[in-house]
Amino acid sequence: MSRTIHSLRTRTLFYLLLLLSAVALASYWSTSNLLHQSLGQYEERHAQEELERVNVALVTDAQALLGSTLDYGFWDDSYEYLQQPSLAYLDSNFTADSMRNLRVDFTVFLTTAGALHSAFEFSGEQREHLATDSSTLRAVYDGLATLPATLQQQGAYLLRWIDGMPVVLAYSPIRDTDRSQPQRGWLVMGRRLDTNALARLEQLVGTPFQLAPTTTSAPALPTAPGSLRVSRLLADSLGPSAVHLIIQRPPILDPQKRDGDLLLLGNSLLILLLAALAATLLLDRLILKRLSRFSHLAEQRRRNAEQPAVWPVQGDDELDQLALSLNELMAEVHTAHESLYQEARRDPLTGLGNRKFLSERLHLYQAMQRRQPGLTLTLYLIDLDDFKLINDCLGHEAGDALLNSLAQRLGGLLRASDTAVRMGGDEFVVLSLTDDTGPGSHALAQRLLEAVCQPLMFQDTQLAISASIGIALAGPGTSEDELLRNADIALYQAKRAGKSGFAIFSATMHTNVQERMRIEQRLRQALALGQLEVWFQPIVDGESGATRMVEALARWPVDGGYCPPDKFIPVAEEAGLIGELGLYIAQRAIQALPRLQQARPGLVLNINLSVKQLLQVNLVGQLCELVDAERLSRHSVHFELTESAFSESLEVLEEQVNALVAAGFQLHLDDFGTGYSSLQRLQHLPMSALKLDKSFTRLLDEGDERIVKVILSLGELLQLRVIAEGVETEQQRERLQILGCRLMQGYLFAKPMPEQQLLDWLPAPSSTAGSV
Ligand code: C2E
Ligand code: CA
Ligand code: CA
Repeated sequence: MSRTIHSLRTRTLFYLLLLLSAVALASYWSTSNLLHQSLGQYEERHAQEELERVNVALVTDAQALLGSTLDYGFWDDSYEYLQQPSLAYLDSNFTADSMRNLRVDFTVFLTTAGALHSAFEFSGEQREHLATDSSTLRAVYDGLATLPATLQQQGAYLLRWIDGMPVVLAYSPIRDTDRSQPQRGWLVMGRRLDTNALARLEQLVGTPFQLAPTTTSAPALPTAPGSLRVSRLLADSLGPSAVHLIIQRPPILDPQKRDGDLLLLGNSLLILLLAALAATLLLDRLILKRLSRFSHLAEQRRRNAEQPAVWPVQGDDELDQLALSLNELMAEVHTAHESLYQEARRDPLTGLGNRKFLSERLHLYQAMQRRQPGLTLTLYLIDLDDFKLINDCLGHEAGDALLNSLAQRLGGLLRASDTAVRMGGDEFVVLSLTDDTGPGSHALAQRLLEAVCQPLMFQDTQLAISASIGIALAGPGTSEDELLRNADIALYQAKRAGKSGFAIFSATMHTNVQERMRIEQRLRQALALGQLEVWFQPIVDGESGATRMVEALARWPVDGGYCPPDKFIPVAEEAGLIGELGLYIAQRAIQALPRLQQARPGLVLNINLSVKQLLQVNLVGQLCELVDAERLSRHSVHFELTESAFSESLEVLEEQVNALVAAGFQLHLDDFGTGYSSLQRLQHLPMSALKLDKSFTRLLDEGDERIVKVILSLGELLQLRVIAEGVETEQQRERLQILGCRLMQGYLFAKPMPEQQLLDWLPAPSSTAGSV
């Protein structure tokens, strides 16, 4: 970019210089031409003036000759001489001296009729007659003939070209001195303008000139190149004569022209230089330099877009206006950029930051942590409990309102160094950077939970919700993914521990979760491939040893052994697989029952049901179908429900339980004594048996019979049978029997086993038959 402007600068200056040079050249050329022209005109005018002077001199000279001729013509002696020619008159008046003085070369006397009277010239001191046929005489006759009558009376002079040279002929009529007598003839005096005569005249006027006959009006003389030549026709008494006066000479003003040219050239060059200098300075300072600065700033901004460029404004010329516009434009761009930047980091629903914002903040805080190692960076991953219910039951509008008010509450709770973002859905993150003085993570988590719990009125409905929080600490080197995953694991833990609580991530938590996830994944696979097995554990009459019931227990063959149900049943419950798993086990067990009943008629099958299963609406129907499909009496299938299932009074559970009973199934309360069910509630549950937990059975070994006794009497009171679990020793069996507990289950009798093994184990039907 700067290169372009540089070239613009040089180019502009170059063209400017070119233009100025052209102007200077043109001005030099035209002024020099004008100078030459006026000098030429001056020179020609000067030559014309000289020509005039020469002309005047020549005319004066000729008129002087005419004057002399008239003197001689109006004279009695001459008058006499024409009548009586006498040598004496000639000798006394026309001497060689007098003629030389008058510069007369020849003299002719004519009669009035124009005939020759006498004609002579001097050759040295000797007067000689002119030859009658000479061209001089012919010219004299011709001249007289051309003279008009008026001129004939007063005399005239003529210029003629005779024998290769100009000759002045002066005519005077011959009269007596008083002019009382008529004219007697003509006196003609001739002056040849030969080389000597011309040299004398030249000397007189001080200007060299030439004379030429009119017949050769083209210059007879060779013209030197550049030389000046002016000419005119010499006039005589008749007007223009037959002789050209020519002045020809080399121009005299050439040195002045040369000097003028040099001066002009110097001037032009000086002006050019000054103009170029001034233009360059002005143009450069006013425009080009500023343009260059503009471009420089633009270039700087292009290299570093973060740095705002401000174009300088000096006054209010066009460039200043341009700079102002650019500055305004840049400010607009900056604002737009800023709002785009904000927009890209904002959650549109709640106005909190989004995931991108979180990631930037995290990097920033981690950088601060690196500089100041005492800082603690904590991430709180907040997930609303059962938010889906609100969305499903009250609509998304209610859901959005809840999220919005929650966002506001979070915002109000946080300090400047805390960041709240919405990750999407019902998941929020608070990122908190604290030093020793900040609240501990427990305190903040508690406050966050309380903020979430505050109810909100939405269209006359009170919305209440809780949240679970997973907390993870970040070190300067923790990656964003790792941090979020840790918080997620803690959240998972918090949810498992019961909702509306928080958990702080730890390394063991991570291993547990990983293990759980591994189990979940493999369990899904095993379920899909039908790899789960059902084993059966007999429940016997402790007294007779007769098998009354069998409990179906799920078995998962893994790596040559079996994964215990205590491990995978909770995973299945959390992963939402329990419905499928429970139904599968129930189906396999129910399908096996007819075969078992063949070996042990009247045998009852106990199937475990998880609370999560009970929450499924169509459960009862499905179970009925399974039992009916095998043409079994519904009385031969009992369901075991753990006591803890009834710790919360959920209407759905009660309905389901009632539905099962209504369908003809009997129910056992499993693991009795470990939960917290009140006796009052127990009284209202439609149970047919209690299962005494194996932990109480074990107490019998230690001689502690109190709880067993209480439970047995409770069973008696509520008319419920009691099945003792975990009977492992003969002592336990004996004590139970003595205390009045008949039904027992435990390793003492049999461990859980596959169907075939059970069939082998069961004694022949005839010997063990009995009622349940
Ligand atoms: P549970 O319902 O209380 O089942 C009795 C557990 O006690 C069984 O453990 C059984 O093997 C064990 N047991 C029986 N006699 C003795 C004994 O003498 N001593 C000792 N120490 N233990 C004895 P298991 O099979 O490992 O099952 C554990 C739990 O897993 C079950 O406890 C039950 O709550 C759950 N479970 C098993 N299968 C299913 C199923 O298909 N569905 C559901 N929902 N839960 C199941
Ligand atoms: Ca059970
Ligand atoms: Ca049990």
